[in-house]
Amino acid sequence: MQNLWCDKTAASFIEQYAKKAVNADLALRVYTSRLLGANPALVLHGGGNTSVKTESFNLHDEKVQVVCVKGSGWDLAAIEPQGFPALHLAPLLNLQKLKNLTDEDMVNAQRCQMLDAAAPNPSIETLLHAFIPHRFIDHTHANAILSLTNQPDGDALIKKIFGSSMGIVPYIKPGFDLAKAAAEIFARDPSVKGLILLQHGIFTFADTAKEAYFRMIEAVTLAEEYIKTHSKNMHRLMAVNSANKSIAEIAPLIRGACSKLLNGMVERMILMHRKSDLILKYVNGENLQRYSQVGVITPDHIIRTKNFPLILPSPFSMEMTEFKSVLETALREYQIAYHRYFVRNNEGQSIPKKELDPLPRIILVPDVGLFALGKSAADAAINADIAENSMQAILDAEAIGNYTALPESDLFEIEYWSLEQAKLAKNSDKAFTRQVVVVTGGAGTIGQSVANAFINQGAEVVLMDIDQARCDEAAKKIHSRVLAIACDLTKAEDIQRAFDRICQTFGGVDIVVLNAGIAYTGKIGEVSDALLRKSLEINFFAHQHVAQQAISILSKQNLGGCLLFNVSKQALNPGVDFGPYGIAKAATLALMRQYAIDYAALGIRSNAVNADRIRSGLLTEEMISARAQARGVDPTEYMCGNLLMREVTAEDVANAFVHLALAEKTTAGIVTVDGGNIAAAVR
Ligand code: ZN
Repeated sequence: MQNLWCDKTAASFIEQYAKKAVNADLALRVYTSRLLGANPALVLHGGGNTSVKTESFNLHDEKVQVVCVKGSGWDLAAIEPQGFPALHLAPLLNLQKLKNLTDEDMVNAQRCQMLDAAAPNPSIETLLHAFIPHRFIDHTHANAILSLTNQPDGDALIKKIFGSSMGIVPYIKPGFDLAKAAAEIFARDPSVKGLILLQHGIFTFADTAKEAYFRMIEAVTLAEEYIKTHSKNMHRLMAVNSANKSIAEIAPLIRGACSKLLNGMVERMILMHRKSDLILKYVNGENLQRYSQVGVITPDHIIRTKNFPLILPSPFSMEMTEFKSVLETALREYQIAYHRYFVRNNEGQSIPKKELDPLPRIILVPDVGLFALGKSAADAAINADIAENSMQAILDAEAIGNYTALPESDLFEIEYWSLEQAKLAKNSDKAFTRQVVVVTGGAGTIGQSVANAFINQGAEVVLMDIDQARCDEAAKKIHSRVLAIACDLTKAEDIQRAFDRICQTFGGVDIVVLNAGIAYTGKIGEVSDALLRKSLEINFFAHQHVAQQAISILSKQNLGGCLLFNVSKQALNPGVDFGPYGIAKAATLALMRQYAIDYAALGIRSNAVNADRIRSGLLTEEMISARAQARGVDPTEYMCGNLLMREVTAEDVANAFVHLALAEKTTAGIVTVDGGNIAAAVR
């Protein structure tokens, strides 16, 4: 493992943070914590923790000894000094005299010693950091260490490799008991460079940040080298199916099946697909059924990935109807097994637990790869990262011996531990959380407003537009979560490619806003066929082709869905010389109604917004000036030329789309957003 320490960078951290009144100890604590956090083979997404014992000042300006420990909710990779709440050290050390301490009392005792009452809760491993006397303590869940400890003879193996340089701590649930045991083991031989916690991870410590970090890298490197030189078991692969099916065929079926829970309630999940050489090596392994069903590599992961992934057969070897039925049976069995696991382990609990949802979070499919489920794309990505990273540790463990994991009772304790559940409980769902919204013409004024409105309501949003750079720029303005896809809507294969990508990223779609358009004009008796066809291509056929792709995915998911068409006022109230645009829009209005009729049985709704006179790429400032002049009014009067005498904005149009997406009993409907124009009123 590469040692990334750099004296110059370390000095720059001290210098930079000194300006913000952060002492050198804490500045270096931030520096090496980030080095550890940036390496996925050491820690992932908020895993691991670090600390420093240093001095601070109280309100009387008296020097006090404190321990600064990583706060909950912070990720080591991006930690700042405020991510290390400071706690009075002496009272924490006093706790060591106690025989027992409940988790709740421990958390309270820790909070009572914080210098800043508003700081986040310090890590649940705080007492361990306090009880070990070294100034700098680093803790990771390093893959290579776990490949060694998660063996039937893990204890002996660690002893053989590390000798007396590391203390060995048997598995104990994090908290007071673990902190006490670790401190006792350390006290037996204070010359150790660190502690290896069987089936959990590794602590290294020293009196400088540099030395503690070096000791971590050295220990992990030693473990990595042992694995490299002692791999003896061949990894055999199953026969690969050469047939191929797109993710758009597979993912919506899985997403749909996983979005229906045992109690029959529909709760959508986001499904992310991943494929890499490592993932394929893992999912195509002959022993997949065994090594994937042993359990998580470190207890922390269970709250993210559940203990076991669901395994499905390769869809390449069967018809999709068969795959669907195998998938449904496998999922049902998974949920029943999860429920039994809960009942079995809940029986002995002094305070009965509430069963979590029985859905898998990771699904492994030979030939295809890994799917991760989450309530958002960000959540699914974290689960996917953990699963993907664990694959290396498990394959390494298999190469040198036999991968083993903790008994399920220990893992149940972590999965249902209130302190762990608190980490996940923060996010509250919004109206469109767990839903995927696609907006065509997404880089334009209305498209961006629509995307914004749905993102604010928690949706995953995809912008489709013809130019990638423009699309990226629009996405950047809206939110880092937005997926921008360049797509020429007049090319069917481009649309298909775009929906494949959407299915890879989110597992499917829920709402499609068909908003792209180009305002072609001309007197209808004189206009060329070519121009009329061009208008029909983008203002009618593009919507038809996008709707077809969407319907194919929505049908596979079987979760309902919603098509939302942007038909302009021209569809109802044609303007002079606007035939090429208005005729295509009128056809699109009919298209909206046809989808409403043909797919209502699947719970798919189809609605339209009839908007008029919105400042956008279709109605530029010059056009507004010209039209205002032609009517002898100023541009503001022109824009307010409606019954309500108020200008209609792109945000108003976006709100109408959101309203229609929420109106669960409305289909084949048109919402007019034009400030009132009686000639364009729906009759
Ligand atoms: Zn840990």
